[in-house]
Amino acid sequence: MSLIVQKFGGSSVANPDRVRNVARIITETYRKGHNVVVVLSAQGDTTDDLIEQAKQINPKASKREMDMLLATGEQISISLAAMAIEAMGYQVVSLTGWQAGMLTNSSYGSARIKRVRTERIQRELDKKKIVLVAGFQGINKYDDITTLGRGGSDTSAVALAAALHADLCQIYTDVDGVYTADPRVVRGARKLDEITYDEMLELASLGAQVLHNRSVEMAKRYSVNMEVLSSLSGNPGTKVKEVVKTMEKSHVSGVAKDKDVSRLALVGLADQPGIAFKVFSLLAKSNINVDIILQSIGRSETKDISFTVTREDAQRARELLEANRDSLGFTSIEISNDVAKISVVGAGMVNNSGVAAKMFEALFNAGININMISTSEIKISVLVAERDAERAVQAVHDYFFSEFGSAN
Ligand code: ADP
Ligand code: ASP
Ligand code: MG
Repeated sequence: MSLIVQKFGGSSVANPDRVRNVARIITETYRKGHNVVVVLSAQGDTTDDLIEQAKQINPKASKREMDMLLATGEQISISLAAMAIEAMGYQVVSLTGWQAGMLTNSSYGSARIKRVRTERIQRELDKKKIVLVAGFQGINKYDDITTLGRGGSDTSAVALAAALHADLCQIYTDVDGVYTADPRVVRGARKLDEITYDEMLELASLGAQVLHNRSVEMAKRYSVNMEVLSSLSGNPGTKVKEVVKTMEKSHVSGVAKDKDVSRLALVGLADQPGIAFKVFSLLAKSNINVDIILQSIGRSETKDISFTVTREDAQRARELLEANRDSLGFTSIEISNDVAKISVVGAGMVNNSGVAAKMFEALFNAGININMISTSEIKISVLVAERDAERAVQAVHDYFFSEFGSAN
């Protein structure tokens, strides 16, 4: 008998009709003879609303209390869905993260799953019950509730699929699958039948919110069979796997946009060995993740270094660098939020030179200036002005994917 893990996102359980719809999908799977473990997210905008409420009470609330609050959203979803399934005459049990054995580290707000103790879930499955688990949450060594970071229910689902050796992990959402770009924003975005873990990981990390990037990382590590599909349309979705058939054919699989970026520039650093090391080890020690880095050629014994961080980290990075101004020896530090990162991703890029040139041509034709560039084997990212972001994604996407399109 096979085991299927299904995850339903916030919009899939947003109201009573949607909860009943999800209950139908779950029970149909169960009726086919599968064991079913289901992960649910908070309904609709619940998590955002809870964050807003907290801000009104205490804008500097501790992360521990934020996790205590935010975890309630998922608990509403699992109990309501369990009631809907009960009403249909099936045996079901809902479990919070801690009841389901989701053990995490202690980073409140961005906890990582360390282990899943599956005994309780296994016992319930042995009793032939459908098991519903609250996504996005776990418990740490102090017996405190933790959350996994925004969008983290995908990771809960993949962690359960890996720990239970599930045959399939289905991520149900509000679009038909993974597209070549956000289908709600980009005209002509196309659904992909399949995509590699590596490409999906890049897309998710570069702004495509359809999957939590850590869920893809985990799916790759444990070879979890993953599928993204719609809870509403019934259409076939997108398979996420190690190797896909189309890899050779197309160079580019998708285009992503990330506005959660700030650029910092350190001006007038001494042009001597060890400076970059000092700057970036300082940031690393404070757990500030740096993305694109650009260093100017040294002139008259000074150089400039620019780099990007998430908006949340920008102020902290600036304060840290300011506090070490004397030992680093820069003349000024500039910070800009008027930036966005646009990326193209594709496993086929490795063997095809010229993808970068094509991307730059598309941006040039649209009259969009490039601020910074970074590349890896399967992706090219550029930094543009935030106001140009939507136009840039559309222009690059048109270039690689339009019907008459040339480049892919
Ligand atoms: P859920 O609540 O189901 O977890 P999310 O809102 O987190 O759903 O993710 C689904 C959304 O991701 C879609 O509605 C879509 O707008 C957005 N999205 C961004 N990039 C892509 C992409 N490349 N393919 C599909 N959806 C994308
Ligand atoms: N409810 C959480 C969020 O909104 C987790 C999730 O949806 O995956 O971020
Ligand atoms: Mg999500």
